[in-house]
Amino acid sequence: MIIVRLIRPRTLVVSALVALCFAPSALAQGKVDNSNLENAVLWQQASGERNALSYQAFTLARMLLDRDLRSRRSRMRRAVIVDVDETVLDNSPYEARLIKEGKSYPVGWTDWINSAKCTAVPGAVEFLNYANSRGVRVFYVTNRKLIEKDGTAKNLTKLGFPRVNDETLVIRTDDKSDSKESRRNAISARYRVVLLMGDDLNDFSDVFEKSRTIASRLAATEELKAKFGTRFVVLPNPMYGNWENSLYEYNFKLTPEQKAEKRRATLKD
Ligand SMILES: [Mg+2]
Repeated sequence: MIIVRLIRPRTLVVSALVALCFAPSALAQGKVDNSNLENAVLWQQASGERNALSYQAFTLARMLLDRDLRSRRSRMRRAVIVDVDETVLDNSPYEARLIKEGKSYPVGWTDWINSAKCTAVPGAVEFLNYANSRGVRVFYVTNRKLIEKDGTAKNLTKLGFPRVNDETLVIRTDDKSDSKESRRNAISARYRVVLLMGDDLNDFSDVFEKSRTIASRLAATEELKAKFGTRFVVLPNPMYGNWENSLYEYNFKLTPEQKAEKRRATLKD
């Protein structure tokens, strides 16, 4: 019923034909065709370029922090805010498993988190320990949920991330909103936030959180371009994110075939 409401009958027929012609084995077994995700996960796991970009991001972060430490006295204690997933913890093995098993997020996500098997994003442990050693408080602001908090803390601590505790590990507590703005503001009220680091524009400002179309996200990036590399430091993540949600107009009920149509329609040549 949902599908019929969302798309025109002709589109529905075409979608069904395409699906039957091109992915019969996956559909027959009730599996999701995640082939569009495969190159992204391979790039994340097997390219030196990804690791190089991560090192580049954390080197820049250290330079910015050093500049701030040298240049001014601060009455407030300094802080750095980092996102968790794909900013300091690497979930690419979870994504790889989705591809191999023909499943979709969030199947198995909480179990994966609570297994505490994430590895660290290259350069993250070193930079955050450096910040901590300079008296800068590190806040881990994540949309992981309460049921995932202990597993997240265990994983971060096991990897050597500094000062993971109830003050610094700031999880999502609002079921109705994934915005980080109120959490960022609560930290800014008590600390001078020198840097924000994330793999998703929504990790940086509510300007991005309110921008839910491709055009508005690109426009917001232009509007705030002076912040990138000065206050915002971005980590690479081609696997998922709000950039992808905007392709689908935040319609989480689209079928895999409908998503494929949206992706193809977005390509420019
Ligand atoms: Mg993230």
